[in-house]
Amino acid sequence: MKELVLPLPDEAATVALGTTLAKACDRASVIYLYGDLGAGKTTFSRGFLQALGHQGNVKSPTYTLVEPYALQPLAVYHFDLYRLADPEELEFMGIRDYFAQDAICLVEWPQQGIGVLPEPDLALHLCYQGEGREAKIEAISAYGSQLLDRIHGSQG
Ligand code: ADP
Ligand code: MG
Repeated sequence: MKELVLPLPDEAATVALGTTLAKACDRASVIYLYGDLGAGKTTFSRGFLQALGHQGNVKSPTYTLVEPYALQPLAVYHFDLYRLADPEELEFMGIRDYFAQDAICLVEWPQQGIGVLPEPDLALHLCYQGEGREAKIEAISAYGSQLLDRIHGSQG
């Protein structure tokens, strides 16, 4: 499967999508999160992280660019590149080390890191839809396509 479009009528639906995807992810992977401010990228990330056992809140690491979560079975790195001035800054922070690890990388505002970030397995596009949101999940890699197959049907 290449693409899946899902309605997200409320915040709980965005959290649930994060939960579903987290449970499907069984190896290192990269997920790009696109969408305007307030579209739900961090809300999705919270569902994802809490499904893997993170307790407590999740904030966009707007100033630090990345927040590490030591979770099982895989560590998760949550990036927010909104304030990144130049993709080269990512080189200085040792971005390649993060992506070389056996970890899941969730990246908000990936368009800010073009040319330096590796290709994702999945690209999640969130947009406003009335009071709610709509998710379009696009498979970029073969593994991303497997992930889409897995979550297809597990969403109501
Ligand atoms: P972003 O990280 O994309 O800037 P956030 O997740 O921080 O966005 O904020 C999204 C806001 O929208 C939060 O107030 C959240 O409660 C709300 N929200 C998330 N998903 C939905 C949804 N499906 N329908 C309505 N509101 C939502
Ligand atoms: Mg955010």
